[in-house]
Amino acid sequence: MNRYITTTLPYVNADPHIGHAQEFVQADALARAWRLAGDDVFFSTGTDEHGQKIYEAAQKAGQEPQAYVDHYAGEFKRLKEALGLSNDAFIRTTDPRHVAAAQEMWRRCAAKGDIYKKTYAGLYCVGCEAFKTEKEIIDGKCPLHPNAELKEISEENYFFKFSDYQEKLLGYLERPGVIIPEWRRIEAINFVKGGLEDFSISREAARLSWGIPVPGDEEQVMYVWFDALTNYISTLGWPADAEGDFKRFWEEGTTLQVAGKDQVRFQSLMWQAMLLSADIKNTDTVFYHGFITSGGQKMSKSLGNVINPLDLVATYGTDAARYILLRHLSPVEDSDLTLEAIREHYTAHLTNGLGNLVARVMKLAEANLGSDDITTMETQPLSADSLDDFQFNKAMDLIWAHATRLDEYITNEKPFAVIKDDPEEGKKMILSCVTQLHAIASMLAPFMPSTSDTILTAIRENKKPENLFPRI
Ligand SMILES: [Zn+2]
Repeated sequence: MNRYITTTLPYVNADPHIGHAQEFVQADALARAWRLAGDDVFFSTGTDEHGQKIYEAAQKAGQEPQAYVDHYAGEFKRLKEALGLSNDAFIRTTDPRHVAAAQEMWRRCAAKGDIYKKTYAGLYCVGCEAFKTEKEIIDGKCPLHPNAELKEISEENYFFKFSDYQEKLLGYLERPGVIIPEWRRIEAINFVKGGLEDFSISREAARLSWGIPVPGDEEQVMYVWFDALTNYISTLGWPADAEGDFKRFWEEGTTLQVAGKDQVRFQSLMWQAMLLSADIKNTDTVFYHGFITSGGQKMSKSLGNVINPLDLVATYGTDAARYILLRHLSPVEDSDLTLEAIREHYTAHLTNGLGNLVARVMKLAEANLGSDDITTMETQPLSADSLDDFQFNKAMDLIWAHATRLDEYITNEKPFAVIKDDPEEGKKMILSCVTQLHAIASMLAPFMPSTSDTILTAIRENKKPENLFPRI
């Protein structure tokens, strides 16, 4: 099967945060699990680099916008490497290839009659990059950005006929599985039933130059959302190479987008309406993860409870960071994470848990088994469909349950003692332990790829590896 998977593109007006890291490793675990199952996978991520917020942040930093976004794209690439992501593409929305795609998307929607111009006056929130309606304003402020002043703006903009897509979107949302978790699909259906308003998809270039020019109207640039959403297909080479990866993975494959829970309107509605307008296949599934709090509160510099994903990797290592993000956070609900909890999980489940088990089994194997024993060992096939329900944490619980059982087996059945009285039986028992460990390492591959590799190599070479998770 051809499978396409993508994260949302982080907006590069700030450093990467732990929520980005969660989304990245969720997508990466799925991509890896599918590849192991024999699927052809295209895994994409990247950075969203236009818009007013970025323009203003660059000005504040005294930089040209391009230099500013180059710096942050670098930071996100650094995080991607720190987390060991196996992505096949990294698309930046300032990439000329993407710019051409966003303009083609515009032309298609315009040709359909879905784009029109009108004068718009209203209160604009730079934080949201959107005009706010009466009911979205509380005490004269955007509740999402209470520190940003709303700006009174009147200008001519292009609009997208979102209201025309109400019925079609309801048709799209009919299929269970088009949004995961299910309750967010219901949320999306209710939102559409509440009525869709056409939305503005351009800004006056005189006011905001940091955007993709609207085809045929140099006085307007695209609204950052309209531009950025097209990345999901520009990364596949659309439209220039529409017969290549785009055809293979988007049109003929199954497509999955991974996004944060605040993205339903953008990913499952606006983007899907754009695809409908351009006569391009809709996304098969959008999976929404929850948010991460720390100590019951939103992470913030002033509270001092920010968990920086790069620091997490620097302290505990790539696989331990992936472990924390995949096993100790809910895949779809909001989760709480503190530095104390991370340390406890690391010590209990990695240092004393898996790390200790690997040392225990491999010490026995190295002392008592020969290479013949290893090469003739019958290994168990990996169950590859375990992530189809997106329950990363439960899939890992299962692996740790295997590990605990193996540990208890060694403690209770004492192969290390048996081998002294009955070498043949003892050897059989130890070989069985190694077989179990092999299964555990195989199951770990999508989640903790380098740990999995290290264990499998240790088994193949019949040599106890270096301490996997040193005490910290
Ligand atoms: Zn706002």
